[in-house]
Amino acid sequence: MSGLRFKAIFESQKRVPLPIEEIGRRSEFFASNVFNEDKMLQHLTKDALASVKGAIDSGTKIERKIADQVAEAMKGWAIHKGATHYTHWFQPLTGTTAEKHDAFFDLLPEGKALEKFGGGQLVQQEPDASSFPHGGIRNTFEARGYTAWDPTSPAFVYGTTLCIPTIFVAYTGEALDNKAPLLRALLAVDDAATAVAKYFDKNVSKVNATLGWEQEYFLIDKSLAMSRPDIVMTGRTLIGQTAAKGQQLDDHYFGVIPSRVLSFMRHLEVECTKLGIPVKTRHNEVAPNQFELAPIFEEANLAVDHNLLLMDVMEKVAEKHHMKVLFHEKPFAGINGSGKHNNWSLSTDTGVNLLSPGSTPMKNLQFLTFFVNTIKAVDTYEELLRSSIASASNDYRLGANEAPPAIISIFIGKQLSSVLDELEGVSKGKLSPEEKTELKLNVVGKIPEIMLDNTDRNRTSPFAFTGNKFEMRGVGSKTNCAKPMTVLNTIVAKQLKAFKEEVDLLVDNKNLKKDEAIFNVLREYIKTSKRIRFDGDGYSSDWEKEAVKRKLSNNKNTPDALQVLVKKESLDLFRSMNVMSEVEVRARQEVELEAYIMHVQIEGRVFNELIYSYVIPSVVEYQNRLIKNVRGLKEIYGASYQKKAKGQLVLIEEISGHLEYLKEKTDAMVEERKKANIMTDTHTKAYAYCDRVKPYFEVIRYHCDKLERLVDDQLWPLTKYRELLFVK
Ligand code: ADP
Ligand code: MG
Repeated sequence: MSGLRFKAIFESQKRVPLPIEEIGRRSEFFASNVFNEDKMLQHLTKDALASVKGAIDSGTKIERKIADQVAEAMKGWAIHKGATHYTHWFQPLTGTTAEKHDAFFDLLPEGKALEKFGGGQLVQQEPDASSFPHGGIRNTFEARGYTAWDPTSPAFVYGTTLCIPTIFVAYTGEALDNKAPLLRALLAVDDAATAVAKYFDKNVSKVNATLGWEQEYFLIDKSLAMSRPDIVMTGRTLIGQTAAKGQQLDDHYFGVIPSRVLSFMRHLEVECTKLGIPVKTRHNEVAPNQFELAPIFEEANLAVDHNLLLMDVMEKVAEKHHMKVLFHEKPFAGINGSGKHNNWSLSTDTGVNLLSPGSTPMKNLQFLTFFVNTIKAVDTYEELLRSSIASASNDYRLGANEAPPAIISIFIGKQLSSVLDELEGVSKGKLSPEEKTELKLNVVGKIPEIMLDNTDRNRTSPFAFTGNKFEMRGVGSKTNCAKPMTVLNTIVAKQLKAFKEEVDLLVDNKNLKKDEAIFNVLREYIKTSKRIRFDGDGYSSDWEKEAVKRKLSNNKNTPDALQVLVKKESLDLFRSMNVMSEVEVRARQEVELEAYIMHVQIEGRVFNELIYSYVIPSVVEYQNRLIKNVRGLKEIYGASYQKKAKGQLVLIEEISGHLEYLKEKTDAMVEERKKANIMTDTHTKAYAYCDRVKPYFEVIRYHCDKLERLVDDQLWPLTKYRELLFVK
């Protein structure tokens, strides 16, 4: 019965690292498969190039005639690169990407064959969208969906397909994807941040949000992964006794990368480099068989696309190396899970990082302005930010005993805290010349020095300032970064807009100088956003209690976390920033809740299968063997057999005990699932799955893992943690 397990172990032992050919210097073939500005320069007419650049930089519309020219050039370039097909590449609300390939190949009426791709096909398509989640949008409006070209993210050739990044919207205009709201949020933050940046430099005309994600993942031998129905169906192990050794020896983190894995990483990097994904860092992570990859940061929309593309490339490359990538946030109990830190900042078209302290007091006032406004934005909308990273799989990390906590707080370090403390003491209204000098020289002016020795870092903080950027750490390893990036940029946009209005009011009505007005407004923000700042241990129970006092949210599960989306303040925020209409927000909540239900439902079903078709049969077989043994002893020893068979009899009892619970709890879980399944309201159903079905998982697992310890290893049908995590 355990044949598959042993066959898989045997297979995995035969693997050797695949040889990887470096096809040249990476800087030379970087983005060779991307139709970027370099390629446009070569292939487009001056007019067409100017038009596309206008669309990229300021969102101007591309005329149909020009689109035809661009399409023709793209087609020629792509075919030269070996492409036979093209696709609109989009991000439906499933969380991943979608594509439908069409051949360039076409026939003229007279039967002549040729390659065709016009502006029409480049700009807009109408995929059959009926099976994508829409949260009621398409029912309400009976609208069809279409995809539309996003020229800000360049087209690329992947395999033999030209992929054109697109948004996906209903005919009535509602976004059916994750990209459209992100683009709107990026536009909002550009507008708001540019207006504020102009206080400090009139030449700023655009501000880009930047994103550098760090992707964590597990890599498991393919045969071993495939021998586990739970990994195949849910991406994680639902049961499994933890191995004798986990991560306690700290011997994996930053250790020597295993050679098969290194070969995978190098292969992956070559593919990424061709696709223009600027991968930079690779290393072992904390848990056994866990790794991380980080790129050089990019403009946020492009970075989001690159992360989605990366996840796809990783799966394909792993396949070639007979491995499986696990993106699930918590594939194994008892060891670290995976996240995707989102490093975020704002950067001007004059080349300035607005969250980087500068060399002059004025530049530092600019830094403080964006720094304090971000803190204020996160303070006001902490619960909304938490909702943007909620998912069934991330629930096993956030709010479980795992990094980081579900409470959003900000870590800024001792030094910056003391700068903010000093700013809190700034006088109201006009400042005396002495106070101004003091502020410029000793508070604002000292920041760069301070930053240099600001080395203490708090790894438990979900939102940490790390020198010249904020790092959002609760994002799940599977999550589409577009979701947290949409919320973060929207709330910062809203905050900066309010800030500008307040400052302008003080300048116009109270006759304050610009810098005085800025100090005055920042002082109030620092005072009112104090509760969000926390430099202590984010994992401690004391912090949970303290957070309650501070009225910070602590939503440990997805149904709770998603409630805030439809509160009036959230709806007002998204509407006022032109990011999402009420219909779009409600649809998203619906889609997320449905996804939650389905994920827990699938886990429940797989549990059922594992217990009945794998665990119970092997346990009974082993128990039969014990019973046979006891019978034999009775035959030999007669009445005194009980003494001889004491151990076996206890084992038989123990096994029966666990088995009884296992069956009882599994059946009870199935009953709760049945009750939940007939519920029609998505909210009630999600809560039923969360509060009534899911709690059984832990109990079932407990008894199952106990049995794994009792049963003969040769009979245990499921590949063990030791094998999944330590076979390289
Ligand atoms: P860590 O110690 O968390 O690994 P690193 O200093 O290695 O942090 O940086 C992590 C990520 O932060 C990288 O992907 C990097 O590109 C990104 N990053 C650096 N500067 C910025 C910035 N200004 N905006 C966005 N991301 C940035
Ligand atoms: Mg990090």
